[in-house]
Amino acid sequence: MYEYLVRKDHMILIQGHAATCPHCWEPITLTLDLSVAEQSYIEDCPVCCKALIVSYSANSGEVQDFNVEASD
Ligand SMILES: [Zn+2]
Repeated sequence: MYEYLVRKDHMILIQGHAATCPHCWEPITLTLDLSVAEQSYIEDCPVCCKALIVSYSANSGEVQDFNVEASD
């Protein structure tokens, strides 16, 4: 019951965002959770499996600043 209410009230905004991997330069799609205003995290490139630092901010379900950096 409690879990159901939390999920109902929580706005879930998942969006695929096109990017280019800074390691292998392949086009990749990153899945962003736009319900969080600002975040930064490390994700592995689906093509070359190297670590990427993904950072972005979101406002009203729209991506504002989006950046992918190579992690080393
Ligand atoms: Zn890559």
